[in-house]
Amino acid sequence: MKAAVFKRQDAMAVIDVPEPRAGAGEVVLKVHDCGICGSDLHAVQYGLGMKPDTVMGHEFCGEIHELGAGVTGFRKGDRVTALPFISCGECERCRRDDGMHCERTRGLGLGQLPGGYAEYVMCGAASILKLPDNVSSREGALVEPLSVGLHGVNRANLRSGMGVVVMGAGPIGLSAAIWAIAKGATVVVSELASGRKDLALRLGAAAVVNPQEENPARKVAELTGRPPEVVFECIGVKSTLGAAIDMVGLHGRVVVLGACMEPDLINPLACIFKEIGIEFIVGYNRAEFSETIAALASGKIDAKPMITDVVAIDQVPRMFEALKNPGARAKVMVEFPH
Ligand SMILES: [Zn+2]
Ligand SMILES: [Zn+2]
Repeated sequence: MKAAVFKRQDAMAVIDVPEPRAGAGEVVLKVHDCGICGSDLHAVQYGLGMKPDTVMGHEFCGEIHELGAGVTGFRKGDRVTALPFISCGECERCRRDDGMHCERTRGLGLGQLPGGYAEYVMCGAASILKLPDNVSSREGALVEPLSVGLHGVNRANLRSGMGVVVMGAGPIGLSAAIWAIAKGATVVVSELASGRKDLALRLGAAAVVNPQEENPARKVAELTGRPPEVVFECIGVKSTLGAAIDMVGLHGRVVVLGACMEPDLINPLACIFKEIGIEFIVGYNRAEFSETIAALASGKIDAKPMITDVVAIDQVPRMFEALKNPGARAKVMVEFPH
């Protein structure tokens, strides 16, 4: 089968690899869609210890093609998405729905197990969730990044009526914005790239400001009468955490979803005087996947505008190059005929 793989630092390729088989407790999906994630771009740019020919891709959706021994509750042809890891299912972390941090967890698409940039992908039956008929496969592949945004919003103690700044209108910033808006917050998105402005507005942001021209926190104050209660840092470069700390109001909360790849300096006194909390976020849990699927099905959230490009597997290496300068692009879907 065809798969898009990591070859070496800064190089992707499309090659032929053997089709996976479903062992006990596993399923094989025929992939419909797989989203390109910022962490994939990071991983290729930095290498991050991945072996050559690693099949990447962890935001996928497809139909069940093969059921392994002992798998119940699913049938061939069911459309599902999956948490992109296989955890032990028995330890204390797994029992409290934190399988992502299970000591025996193996992730899909970043080197441990093959991922979804392939015609077929093997995943754990305990990690899959069915998609209702009115949730398309493209939306199904958005469940993973949307769950990251939901995980951040859940850690923000966000309540209806709060004022929020989302720094960065990439896919993760947009996911956080979608959920903050759905939970009743007034959201100002801070973004330098003018092409992404319309997208954030279409998703329901109250305003989008260029932080070089206008202070996003001041914009929130204009709209709500108070400094922002929550700031989501979704950029992840040096100094953006400091900017988030400066913007958040008294007793506010900074939620860090951007992954800065180098040491950064912050000013603890600024945090102390305002008594703010800083939450660092990675991943999601199964409950958040379920809530995301239900919200897509009910129309509580509509994330389709996030998808700006749909490409075939052969175009993946070229798209990874293009995404070095994403411009107006947000989520790029790799789609297989289905
Ligand atoms: Zn991702
Ligand atoms: Zn475990």
